[in-house]
Amino acid sequence: SSLPRTSDCLFCRIVAREVPGTVVHETDTTLAFRDITPQAPTHVVLVPKAHVENAAALAATAPGVLDDLFLAAGEVARAEGIADSGYRLLFNTGRDAGQTVFHAHLHVLGGRALGPLA
Ligand code: 5GP
Ligand code: ZN
Repeated sequence: SSLPRTSDCLFCRIVAREVPGTVVHETDTTLAFRDITPQAPTHVVLVPKAHVENAAALAATAPGVLDDLFLAAGEVARAEGIADSGYRLLFNTGRDAGQTVFHAHLHVLGGRALGPLA
């Protein structure tokens, strides 16, 4: 949360359209784009446009945006045709979860049976 602005944060740069992304959904507060290394037939990441480091910071600073992200996730799932077959919503948070991009993002995964989490 103390880190970047547009210049240092990859997902801020995608939001700013400084780095290309395959955008599939956008609202005033959120942006959804395809993961560059998809782990399932549908793999979209949904980000708040405002930079926060992780899901905990997101909930603490902007609970309304968290609502927006979950609403957008449902809309992405419908648009991707996986609303009925099912999908997984996931926030990696910190080292042990393997978080690599420190701009909060909600993974939307589906289009195949995903199996157990770990
Ligand atoms: P994390 O492991 O932090 O939860 O997830 C970061 C995700 O961002 C990974 O699934 C990774 O494939 C994805 N990613 C990393 N760099 C880029 C990029 O430049 N563009 C897009 N669309 N996704 C990226
Ligand atoms: Zn950012």
